[in-house]
Amino acid sequence: MKALVPVKRVVDYNVKVRVKSDGTGVDIANVKMSMNPFDEIAVEEAVRLKEKGIVTEIVAVSCGVSQCQETLRTAMAIGADRGILVETDAELQPLAVAKILKALVDKEQPGLVILGKQAIDDDCNQTGQMLAALADLPQATFASKVEVADGRAVVTREVDGGLETVSVALPAVLTTDLRLNEPRYVTLPNIMKAKKKPLETVKPDALGVDVGPRIKTLQVAEPAKRSAGIKVADVATLVAKLKNEAKVI
Ligand code: AMP
Repeated sequence: MKALVPVKRVVDYNVKVRVKSDGTGVDIANVKMSMNPFDEIAVEEAVRLKEKGIVTEIVAVSCGVSQCQETLRTAMAIGADRGILVETDAELQPLAVAKILKALVDKEQPGLVILGKQAIDDDCNQTGQMLAALADLPQATFASKVEVADGRAVVTREVDGGLETVSVALPAVLTTDLRLNEPRYVTLPNIMKAKKKPLETVKPDALGVDVGPRIKTLQVAEPAKRSAGIKVADVATLVAKLKNEAKVI
């Protein structure tokens, strides 16, 4: 069974992002970019399923600028067998990515598509769900445990206040939550091996996909600055302030 794993190139989670002065977006010039952390978990899960003999081939896909090749090479260093770069300079919204992935699902016929639950740049949490709808596939989102057997995936999902276990028939779309696994470190020999793995480049047009935006961003703003705190002399003053000024007790 083939696993398709979409991996997004995002601003590294350690970077403190700055909003552009004209409020049109976030400044990503000269900023460290990395694979979306939830997608690393997705690649790791696919590799573990391959190690168990359930998955036979892992295909990583990244949609975006040519530098997404680096993200694909990282996925291949973790253990993906080959990569597909869907190259475009257009700003891609989740619906456009979902349409691209649907075209690739039709072409590659994977048994599993494993996405991250959300990309940490736009926090959309939409692509997996949209793909499942477009491709008419069952979906199990926010997976914290995945077991595949007898043509089905049994997925434990993290929901408000607990865990839900669902069973979906394959082929299916899964999205990963933080506690699904801890991705392995990428070793130097595996980085070298990844350089030799096949990486195909296609354009959205060749897949028959219109990536035109459907949403217009009106404004991006920094969160309001917190006002400075004060030090109080003793507990009695603190209690008095909480009671009389903050009025929280
Ligand atoms: P989002 O819906 O934007 O929060 O993204 C959810 C997931 O969709 C990500 O964790 C990726 O697995 C996948 N995804 C989103 N955008 C892209 C992209 N440009 N290239 C590849 N995968 C993507």
